[in-house]
Amino acid sequence: MEWVAAFVWNQWQAWSGIRKRHFKQAHFPMEKRLDDFDYRHQTTINKRQISALLDFNFLDQRQNLVFIGPPGVGKTHLAIGLGYKAIEAGYKVLFKTAMTLVEELELAEKRGELKKRISLLAKNDLLIIDELGYLPMSRQSRYNLFQLVNSLYEYRSIILTTNKDFTDWGEFFHNDNVAIPIVDRIIHHSHIFMLGGESYRLKEKLTN
Ligand code: ADP
Ligand code: MG
Repeated sequence: MEWVAAFVWNQWQAWSGIRKRHFKQAHFPMEKRLDDFDYRHQTTINKRQISALLDFNFLDQRQNLVFIGPPGVGKTHLAIGLGYKAIEAGYKVLFKTAMTLVEELELAEKRGELKKRISLLAKNDLLIIDELGYLPMSRQSRYNLFQLVNSLYEYRSIILTTNKDFTDWGEFFHNDNVAIPIVDRIIHHSHIFMLGGESYRLKEKLTN
């Protein structure tokens, strides 16, 4: 019997080692858990909608999630919370702010390594792109982003958080010829969540 226990222990150790590594590799900027999300504050989304995602069918079917809303309404919290759960469920996740991602792609492109960089990013089951739309992007960056989104399309999943409604995307992408294809590929197989309400940061400030 002892060897069974030892085997199970070893397996468990190996399993938790892998998970630990995956948490590290995800590069979450902070720890946010779904369990700490307060649906009484954020009433434009309910717990049932988020819990329904935890079977991770959306990852298996290479679908995307898009969280749209003003600052402070919990978009990043939900994205990271789902990321943690996905890792616990055995998926590989990578978190990037849109700004970092765009900078990295630009650097790679300059070095003639855009394809290589994109295939590295595509090693993850889920890429979280946080805060698209806050900062303007150069024409080359928009094109690089298109390359990325196109490579991940129907192959990997993206969770995107943004302050821009789809109607604003054309303008954000300067009505480039990549604007519509990017939006089109992101939303084709996606769950879109529109978040509203008051900023949670502001609420915390006012009540403390
Ligand atoms: P956004 O990405 O929409 O700008 P964040 O997810 O960064 O907003 O939320 C801002 C802060 O408020 C974070 O510390 C987050 O954990 C917290 N927060 C936002 N909404 C909620 C909520 N409904 N329940 C608990 N904490 C929340
Ligand atoms: Mg955010």
